[in-house]
Amino acid sequence: MKIIRAKILGFCAGVRRAVNAAEKALSENAGGQVYTLGPLIHNPVALEELSKRNLKILSETDIARLREGDTVLIRAHGVPPETEHAIREKGANVVNATCPLVTKSQKTAADYAAKGYIIFFAGDKNHGEVVGIEGYAKKAASEAGKNLHFLLIKDAEELKSALSELSEKNLLSPSSKVILLSQTTFSIKIFELLKTELKKAVPHAEVVSSICPATYERQDSLVSLCAEVDGVIVIGGRTSANTNRLFVTANSLCKKAVLIEKPEEIPAVFFSLQTVGITAGASTPDSTIQEVEERLLHESEHS
Ligand code: SF4
Repeated sequence: MKIIRAKILGFCAGVRRAVNAAEKALSENAGGQVYTLGPLIHNPVALEELSKRNLKILSETDIARLREGDTVLIRAHGVPPETEHAIREKGANVVNATCPLVTKSQKTAADYAAKGYIIFFAGDKNHGEVVGIEGYAKKAASEAGKNLHFLLIKDAEELKSALSELSEKNLLSPSSKVILLSQTTFSIKIFELLKTELKKAVPHAEVVSSICPATYERQDSLVSLCAEVDGVIVIGGRTSANTNRLFVTANSLCKKAVLIEKPEEIPAVFFSLQTVGITAGASTPDSTIQEVEERLLHESEHS
């Protein structure tokens, strides 16, 4: 059997950095409990490994229970400044593993909020990254004595109603400063559409996209991989959005496609294929990818 890995697969830089930070915090821990604020990544295999090493998950409502000497790791998508402040107030150590690209977005939103811009933000409601970025914008606006207008939109319809709401409140004039920003994992296609629609309504609106290359590089690599193989195995957590998007693409382009979390789940039919492609979501550890490849080789030799 020939196995071909997608050119880009597995951990993105931000997730790798967060996992390394968790491993370092666990190995250097001097007695307190090490927590992550919410699950570190959307991958049950990696989470189980970290939990065996006594990494516990802390919810925002449990911050009050922290003790001095505990360590809290902030995940790749960041938190609002007041959450970090609340952790520090309990005397816990903070390991900030916010992805540098998200930190940049927090800073961009804060800078525009401080200048009094109306911010249209293309993103998903309740997503941790969006909540964090809005928190930074709120803090900066308040410190600069400005009102914050942070309008979260996910499609053209939401953009339209946000624009009418602003007009009804007489907040939109030719002199209004307007900016469109985005979540790092937002769809490029929808962002472009929002940009066009916003420019129609407010021609002088500024646009800054923060969409991370990691969100489309794995997809692009998978498209080329599908042309070379008889079947594709997508490895990753079933609750991981980017892993599911990879599976949808694999399923539409390849005769055989499957999504698995661990090597034991490889369907038997893959063991007799000539060429198998492998890809993995941005939160799939290297070790799982390696184990899947080893099982494929081992079983194909015996089938
Ligand atoms: Fe950072 Fe991009 Fe990974 Fe998000 S997807 S953690 S922005 S590298």
